[in-house]
Amino acid sequence: MRILVIEDEQKVARFLKKGLEAEGYEVETAADGKTGEKCARTEVYDLILLDVLLPKKNGFEILRDLRKDEIRTPILMLTARSATEDIVGGLDQGADDYLTKPFAFNVLLARIRSLMRRGTVRTKLKYADLILDTVAHTASRSGTPIELTVREYALIEYFLRHRGELISRQELSRDIWGYNFDPGTNVVDVYVNHLRKKIDADFSMKLLQTERGKGYYLSDKKLSFKSAKGTSAGMSA
Ligand code: CA
Repeated sequence: MRILVIEDEQKVARFLKKGLEAEGYEVETAADGKTGEKCARTEVYDLILLDVLLPKKNGFEILRDLRKDEIRTPILMLTARSATEDIVGGLDQGADDYLTKPFAFNVLLARIRSLMRRGTVRTKLKYADLILDTVAHTASRSGTPIELTVREYALIEYFLRHRGELISRQELSRDIWGYNFDPGTNVVDVYVNHLRKKIDADFSMKLLQTERGKGYYLSDKKLSFKSAKGTSAGMSA
């Protein structure tokens, strides 16, 4: 298990390295933001402990730039600030957890173990700038979290797993609600419209498309569907 510690206070860095190595982790340290980010980009780690206030480049900027480039190494922020907006900002930008300094070493170890456990099951579903965390059941677009109800989340996950496929109201009714489609009800359309408001209204790129009279599909552009249901033309992988 390899851990990168990006921390400019030498005393803290040495303490973390010594303590974590005693627990059997392999530890590398970087003393400024630029060096740390370079390590994070070029080496493979199971976890990064990332200080916020760093010379050359701060922890939030490093976090943002790593996530922007799809580097998904779990990151635990070590913040001296306890301002809620900093913590929320860090988590929104893709930090997996945070600890406010000063912290007890055994708390850090517990958080690391927890992240390691989560890391093995955490899966992200991604389409364009839409990302679903199938463990936390959360959604975001371009890093902006989108609040969804349980049913809306189930719907968008279904669309994401069937991206580019035309999905009929009957299928949604059966697979999401678990009952046979009642043509007299518009519950599916109502839910899809709610979902569309949340997913698409604030973004210029629309993802939830309607095929009139046939159903819905997830795509960043209009697709043409042959009359045989479920086959699409012009679909890119
Ligand atoms: Ca610092």
